[in-house]
Amino acid sequence: MNRAVLSRLGLTLPLLPTTSVGSLPKPPELLAARRRYTAGAISRRELDGLAEEATVFWLREQEAVGLDVLVDGEMYRSDLVGFFAEELDGMALAGLVRAYGNRYYRKPIIQGPIRWEQPITVGWWRFAQGHTAKPVKATVTGPYTLMDWSFDEHYGDRRAACLALAQELRKEVAALVHAGARIIQIDEPALSARAGELPLVREALGVMTDGLDAYWIVHTCYGAFDTVYPGMLALPAHNFSLALADAAVDWIAHFAAAPFTADLCAGVIDVHAHTVESVDTVRARIAHALPLVPVVGLWAAPDCGLKTRRVEDALAKLRVMVAGAALVRDQQDSGGSGI
Ligand SMILES: [Zn+2]
Repeated sequence: MNRAVLSRLGLTLPLLPTTSVGSLPKPPELLAARRRYTAGAISRRELDGLAEEATVFWLREQEAVGLDVLVDGEMYRSDLVGFFAEELDGMALAGLVRAYGNRYYRKPIIQGPIRWEQPITVGWWRFAQGHTAKPVKATVTGPYTLMDWSFDEHYGDRRAACLALAQELRKEVAALVHAGARIIQIDEPALSARAGELPLVREALGVMTDGLDAYWIVHTCYGAFDTVYPGMLALPAHNFSLALADAAVDWIAHFAAAPFTADLCAGVIDVHAHTVESVDTVRARIAHALPLVPVVGLWAAPDCGLKTRRVEDALAKLRVMVAGAALVRDQQDSGGSGI
């Protein structure tokens, strides 16, 4: 469907391209170094050096696994919103906030006008792309999620805060495009937080992406998607990366009622399950997604970032995903329909 966009960008991908969503597990030595950095025991330079080593490790591993579109693995990030909040002027991190049962994170605060002062992820993207011949997908947290997950002490209005973030994040994605990034994913896990605000998400993503030439993926996960489908199809995205392995949402029923009109990056690996799926489970999940979109528009990925898994488990999950995708790809190539 959007293969024409990919080829215009000079990208030739196989049928059923495989990728990961964005974050990969940090090796134990990098986690330890991050703790030492927080305690003031090592310099930022030392920490960045270790994050670079971990990035190269993951690039080699992703190549060995056989993924088609790689990521930098986000070895330099704290979390999805905290990292950008620390890097954008006007935002800071508050104390610990409880989320998801017993998990805690530091909620950002918008304290003043949000300003993008310099590239945030571009150096890391360039570093990663410089170490592989495969395309590296850039990932940026979206303005709506950054707004929704932050305290706002400055704008006093969700729309104003969201659009201000979109204006500034546009500078980041423009810098990524300028650096050569051709596939850019905007992470919007909060997409369905308030269904009535879907027009705001659309407006904000338009502000962020209008006129910038890239293949845009919008990733979202674990929300009340029945409330935003099919309206979400109006977002400026060539591809939606959705959680399908965790079958909380019956996508088939939704897509039957209103056909999916973008490419689909089907989540076929449950990132929260400790056990590694079998190749056949992955094959079946991809087969389940096949009727949803024309096969040329279908990609395979995990449901979400793999950072909460151990390195070896994440690798095992990616291996079965690639093997399952290869089975389906072979069957499609040979014109088979018995999947
Ligand atoms: Zn996710």
